[in-house]
Amino acid sequence: MNIATQAAQIGLDWDTRTGAVTVPIYQTATFRHPGLGQSTGYDYSRSGNPTRQALEEGMARMDGGARGFAYSTGMAAIASLLFLFKSGDHLVVTEDLYGGTYRLFEQCLNQYGLTFTYVDSSDIHAVQQAIRPETRGLFVESLTNPLLKVADIAALSALCKERGLLHIVDNTFLTPYLLRPLELGADIALYSGTKYLSGHNDTLSGLVVVKESALAEKVYFHQNAIGAVLGPQDAWLTIRGIKTLSVRLDRQQENAKKIALWLAAHPRVKKVYYPGLPDHPGHELLRRQARGFGAMIAFEVADPALVEPLLLKTSVISFAESLGGVESLITFPAVQTHTDIEPEKRERLGITNGLLRLSVGIEDADDLIADLAQAFSQEN
Ligand SMILES: *Cc1c(COP(=O)(O)O)cnc(C)c1O
Repeated sequence: MNIATQAAQIGLDWDTRTGAVTVPIYQTATFRHPGLGQSTGYDYSRSGNPTRQALEEGMARMDGGARGFAYSTGMAAIASLLFLFKSGDHLVVTEDLYGGTYRLFEQCLNQYGLTFTYVDSSDIHAVQQAIRPETRGLFVESLTNPLLKVADIAALSALCKERGLLHIVDNTFLTPYLLRPLELGADIALYSGTKYLSGHNDTLSGLVVVKESALAEKVYFHQNAIGAVLGPQDAWLTIRGIKTLSVRLDRQQENAKKIALWLAAHPRVKKVYYPGLPDHPGHELLRRQARGFGAMIAFEVADPALVEPLLLKTSVISFAESLGGVESLITFPAVQTHTDIEPEKRERLGITNGLLRLSVGIEDADDLIADLAQAFSQEN
């Protein structure tokens, strides 16, 4: 079944007793046991909750995995997954990584004997060279943040199989609607559900889909043991968001392309990073492995003095962190999302003091462009 259909109908057949079209919010911490040593299948909401389960099963179907898991946030999902590794293990990781993931790895998990090497994961040779005898995992973003580099998921998965590495793909920027990492060979797909999946800037969530059931058992063990699970209200909001994922993303991508072309032609813009533009280095690869280019744009202004007017004088576009929602947002990665990466490293990666990131929403594209145009003209 097409993923747009699966997304729209998530949770549909859950309540057969009443026939409710949407899944009920099971706002309960615990469940009565029918008898000694008996269970309805639900005992305690950390271990399993029907609303959360509807989301987890829906995600597993959309991503083609054995099982899905929902966490309180994307970071909770990543932290819980990293419990699959043990002290002494080494992971190879995308270098222009989401800042929060970098912070978790370098300021928290490294204290427990995990080590990480950061490479350009759009360069398979760089990944290959970073693998050591103690390497156990490869953690990549399918589309990186903020520079939108594209990793060749199938080639990296083949490499992981050959070297016995667990392949985890943070697919937040594309979602299963546009790219399905497990189909390309990855072991685990992971999402900040806060972004496109929920899609309305109204809730936080983290989602994981595991391809094989033996690995899924381990992930479930940690989900329950750690307990950073998604609550039933937020699970419901995430389900509600997923139902419109396909139409939102179609519109967002259409808008993003128009805006990227407009920015590329603007005399005050030095560089535009949008994989939907044919001159983007990941364009061809993404065309092959995904069904779209997403709706994130990064662009570098010629003069850093333009950064402030663009952040503060835009009004249709909000100056706010996060991405993927129906409302367009603009951010300044060097100071907001990537502040935990050292300044020299940021500069080397291209996360300069003139780089802005745009999360394109579903508003009218001409309104968004007019908003940017007036902000560009307000430089003082
Ligand atoms: C936002 C984000 C995360 C973290 O998710 P939260 O829901 O904010 O905890 C992880 N990876 C990527 C790519 C993100 O954009």
